[in-house]
Amino acid sequence: MTNFNINLLTRNNIKAMKSYSSARDEFKDFELDYLFLDANESPFPNGWNRYPDPQQWEVKELLSQQKKVPKNQILLGNGSDEVLDLLFRAFCEPNSDNVITLPPTYGMYGVLGNLNAIENREVVLNSEFQPNLDRIFENIDKNTKMIFLCSPNNPTGNTFLDDSIVSLLQNFKGLVVIDEAYIDFTEKESWITQLNEYPNLVITQTLSKAYGLASLRIGIAYASVEIIAILNKIKPPYNINLASQNIAIKKLNFNIVPNQVKKIVSERNRMEVELHSISFVEKVYPSEANFLLIKVDDASKRYQQLIERKAVVRNRSSQPLCENCLRISIGAKAENNQLLTLLKSL
Ligand SMILES: *Cc1c(COP(=O)(O)O)cnc(C)c1O
Repeated sequence: MTNFNINLLTRNNIKAMKSYSSARDEFKDFELDYLFLDANESPFPNGWNRYPDPQQWEVKELLSQQKKVPKNQILLGNGSDEVLDLLFRAFCEPNSDNVITLPPTYGMYGVLGNLNAIENREVVLNSEFQPNLDRIFENIDKNTKMIFLCSPNNPTGNTFLDDSIVSLLQNFKGLVVIDEAYIDFTEKESWITQLNEYPNLVITQTLSKAYGLASLRIGIAYASVEIIAILNKIKPPYNINLASQNIAIKKLNFNIVPNQVKKIVSERNRMEVELHSISFVEKVYPSEANFLLIKVDDASKRYQQLIERKAVVRNRSSQPLCENCLRISIGAKAENNQLLTLLKSL
């Protein structure tokens, strides 16, 4: 897109504000053998007594090598949820701006809209679970700051067509945020490769799913240098704790993720076939994620029956296009077999 100017999207108070400058921002080289008396930390070493690197450079260095994105185009958050919240706070003026989301999709976009007093214009996906471009463009006005595309989408499991995403990237003057929480489970390429093409593109990923680190809370944004600089300006100073940084570094250095992803994808494919043979399963939607969405005869009844047998799935029936739909995470082989046995016994 030509003539894109991030300053026109950024809230005035954010442009004007001075960010907090922490002790570790002002003197960065804490590897040095200096006398550190600048952060009011405890002097008694226990492994945790010093504040962590506010910019998490070691983690970013590894992500940078693996994703082929410069470090100054990467921001880490306390989960993707923090990254998404920072986007709202940086670019959406409370009580006047709006965003577009495409239900059925991840619930946090709407929650963060409410939290930040931003109108959420919901444009339901079409019957193929694809973005309805005409309706999206009808809903865009001068106060529309962001569009959230979750691809692969939660809870439908599909990716969005390249042409639709390109059309939004080229024609929408706000930010196109592509949530790639499930990107590791699809054959499709990440939109990260397009960062240089589109200054309005923001990609979020996470270590919570394929990387198996949900409890550490590490979400990632990839975007232009300018967008990342604005998010950096407003993020809490030490938003990724040292334990999380250390474990993320280990995980990124010693990568067993592709193997685990292969296992999950193969289990997903097996479950897709097996679930078809359950009498009350009416539909198993194709999935490019680590879960399957199924349509059953009566979702509340089946959900309850599973709970009584100590198995928990997610009832997504309240979402548009998801009537009588359950979302089943792909577990280990033994867990999936347990679920199948339970379902057959109902
Ligand atoms: C699970 C999930 C996330 C991950 O959120 P974290 O805060 O990083 O754990 C993000 N987006 C979607 C669509 C998800 O389903």
